[in-house]
Amino acid sequence: MECSYCGQEVFPTVHRRDGNPPYRVGYYRLLTGKLIPVTMQNPRNVSETIEFFKLVEPRWVIACVNCFERTEVREELEKLFSGVPEVKKSPEAE
Ligand SMILES: [Zn+2]
Repeated sequence: MECSYCGQEVFPTVHRRDGNPPYRVGYYRLLTGKLIPVTMQNPRNVSETIEFFKLVEPRWVIACVNCFERTEVREELEKLFSGVPEVKKSPEAE
């Protein structure tokens, strides 16, 4: 696997029983993609509709430890992580 930002190869997090710190993070990984809103009939209650977002074109974004320290990388990851649009609440849900 490679860092999505610098292309450097990344390795899994290493845990050591007596290390200080007891682990060394290898990389950070985030699943993201395009979200499309879906409205469908609730299969458990046909008089109800349910709304959700479906992930299409999923992709992993991988950041090595060095890139994760960069402000612009953190900002982009935060934006990708919290990029789920707000869902309108139905009156029954309140
Ligand atoms: Zn990197």
